Amino acid sequence: MKNIITLLAAVLLFAGCKLDPKPLDGGAASQQVSSALVNAEQIDIVPVSINGAKPPQEAFAFSMKILKKYTTDNIVVHPTISLTLDPAQINDFIYDYAQSDRLERLKPEEAAAFREATEKLPKDEATIVMIYTPVLHHNRSSSSRLMRGLAFYYRPDWQPFNVVVYNQSKINNAPVISKTQAWKIVLTHELGHRLGVPARRSHNSHNHCTSRECVMYAAPDWQAVASVAFNGMPYDFCDLCKEELEGAKRL
Ligand SMILES: [Zn+2]
Ligand SMILES: [Zn+2]
Repeated sequence: MKNIITLLAAVLLFAGCKLDPKPLDGGAASQQVSSALVNAEQIDIVPVSINGAKPPQEAFAFSMKILKKYTTDNIVVHPTISLTLDPAQINDFIYDYAQSDRLERLKPEEAAAFREATEKLPKDEATIVMIYTPVLHHNRSSSSRLMRGLAFYYRPDWQPFNVVVYNQSKINNAPVISKTQAWKIVLTHELGHRLGVPARRSHNSHNHCTSRECVMYAAPDWQAVASVAFNGMPYDFCDLCKEELEGAKRL
């Protein structure tokens, strides 16, 4: 793969080619940066591990460093809540995560421990539940495509919070790059969805960034691979996304 990147880099250098952002293709959208996260005095991270899934420590620490950079130094990572689920139930459990009956799929002793752990936690817009799972589909159907990650926001009257989900099998088997590299990108990418970048329509296509040098770029394509040769891996937000995150800070 190194050879392919070198070759692409050489071709582009000779062609004097500059990589333009991805065209908007009718997918232009806009969203708001999450003021609740960017201006939080404290962010609570609640890791939930399903059937032993978890990210490499180095990648997790990296994503927390990036989150701190744009929010607050005061990030509290709570003890991991470990759950054991029937593999056939996992996908539904995740899609029902915010429902009050979600505990019904758990073993009674784990349900009790889960309830006890989560009841003590702050539940607000500055809380991020990070679920690590061995499987995650595009929707409830097990025949729908597998996803690397997912981010959503649940806001019933009684419990607003952010949920980000990571599919260990899909991330560990990312082509070309190492597990740790893949985790760094996906961990930060899903957090970026909750932070609300890209915000402006000018670089937002279906809530992904059009810049190939951005961790919010949708999916690797050859131009993104070529960009890696010039700019390194897109582990952080691009200048436009950074500007939006910084602009949402209350002074
Ligand atoms: Zn995404
Ligand atoms: Zn961006």
